[in-house]
Amino acid sequence: VLQNFSESTTDKLSIHCSQLALRDDGKTYQNQYKKQDSKSTEFTEVHDPATNEVICRTPKSTESEMQDAVASAKAAFSTWRQSSIMTRQTLMLKYQALIREHSKELAMNLVRENGKTLADAEGDVLRGLQIVDMCAGIPSLLLGESLNNISTDMDTISYKVPIGVTGSICPFNFPAMVPLWTFPISIACGNTTVLKPSERVPGASMILADLFNKAGAPPGLLNIIHGQHKAVDFICDHPDIKAVSFVGSDQAGKYIYERSSASGKRVQCNNGAKNHCVVMPDANKNKSISQIVGAAFGAAGQRCMALSVAVFVGKTNDWIPEIVNAAKRLKVNAGHVPGADLGPVISPQSKNRILELIESSVKEGADLPLDGRGIKVPGYEKGNFVGPTIITNVKPNMRCYKEEIFGPVLVCMNAASLDEAIKLINANPYGNGTAIFTTNGASARTFIDRIEAGQVGINVPIPVPLPMFSFTGNKKSFFGDSHFYGKHGINFHTQTKTITQLWRAGDATDISSSTTMPT
Ligand code: NAD
Repeated sequence: VLQNFSESTTDKLSIHCSQLALRDDGKTYQNQYKKQDSKSTEFTEVHDPATNEVICRTPKSTESEMQDAVASAKAAFSTWRQSSIMTRQTLMLKYQALIREHSKELAMNLVRENGKTLADAEGDVLRGLQIVDMCAGIPSLLLGESLNNISTDMDTISYKVPIGVTGSICPFNFPAMVPLWTFPISIACGNTTVLKPSERVPGASMILADLFNKAGAPPGLLNIIHGQHKAVDFICDHPDIKAVSFVGSDQAGKYIYERSSASGKRVQCNNGAKNHCVVMPDANKNKSISQIVGAAFGAAGQRCMALSVAVFVGKTNDWIPEIVNAAKRLKVNAGHVPGADLGPVISPQSKNRILELIESSVKEGADLPLDGRGIKVPGYEKGNFVGPTIITNVKPNMRCYKEEIFGPVLVCMNAASLDEAIKLINANPYGNGTAIFTTNGASARTFIDRIEAGQVGINVPIPVPLPMFSFTGNKKSFFGDSHFYGKHGINFHTQTKTITQLWRAGDATDISSSTTMPT
């Protein structure tokens, strides 16, 4: 099933300057698209998480390659910022069609480099594609405001104008969706981008860049650099990069937020999470159980919106044995094997961290009705597999509750009432997502009103908003002001220019001056 897409992403990657086909006069620009061989001597090995075989190496772009990428973006910005809105819309429509056409190829790359199941990988691509769909509506999204006769014969207009070169730093867990959260919006707004994929999953970004080129993107709109800390520091510090988008862990988010802000950039950082659901006694039992199991263990728990904590109100903790049985029925296998429900976690280090957190919960007095630590997957004995794991009787001071596990582990807690459950969730420093399972409208409304997390599901376990809205995690899960995609994404990637204009007949003969503040 899996072809060698990753091989095309090996040592050769450094910079993408895309080819241009679109000009307002209908002529085609010269092809300046470059896939530049990196001169780097330093690489990060990319492993197939199901086998731990090395499938390619990501170069650490050299300083001069990174400088070239910014120079390419900066040069392209000077003309792209003046491109017509219809040109940008046409580019996005072509790109949208190409991603759809190549979604299988992208998904298969994700299976190979990230380990997720093929069906889940297709979801990763399609959720990213929805952002390109949104960008195809850029003419309405960029509409400004205007007011006629703000004063006699004076009108005020505001435009949303681009900000320049933007930077995007991406995580491993959504190799297609997260890059697509940023660069299409940035470019549709008239900016150009320097993007750094996760060094652990570089392939999807390279395929996306190839497709962008095929869609006819002008050279220099999308530039990809590779690496780890040095590339991150480069993006945070470079004076020609005006805004930085980051998605990843808390530690990196805090660092990138502080470092980029210190050099005067606007920054948006989506960080880690601990997403709780509340199970009310009046909930639809079978539906709630199946939703909790899917949302806790899907993608091997490696989603920032994974349901990692279930808070059972009253006697609903009697449902736990049925949740355990449902979790036992999930098939753990390599992502490309038909019928697999969850694949491996990204790396042996990640697996060890997950196992260590499970062990800590036992030592701290929790129970383990389902222990996925010893799982063996025939044919994939060297893979980073962890089976679905359920920890019960967890207390807020335990490490398995305090830390993001980012694996297929459901932490179960008890609360006497909805009020107690809400207090517990609000005391958690994270605020990415949360959900309640109930058939009582008043309970749902109380939950919506009082819960602090930024994305709330009512009988919806993973309430990730579609791009007509924005991804609105809060508290420790988000640093910044404008969120990713939707109207927030447009605001993040534009600045407002407000024009006040006076066109009055007879001005030529008016010689009066005023030194007072006009009111
Ligand atoms: P990560 O922080 O390890 O890596 C993300 C990016 O930051 C990578 O490009 C990496 O090269 C770089 N990086 C890593 N460590 C760094 C450091 N110390 N300093 C500077 N840069 C660094 O994250 P990951 O493991 O790739 O992704 C998983 C994390 O991302 C989880 O915590 C998950 O919750 C979070 N995440 C959040 C969202 C969201 O929208 N809130 C979405 C997806 C993932």
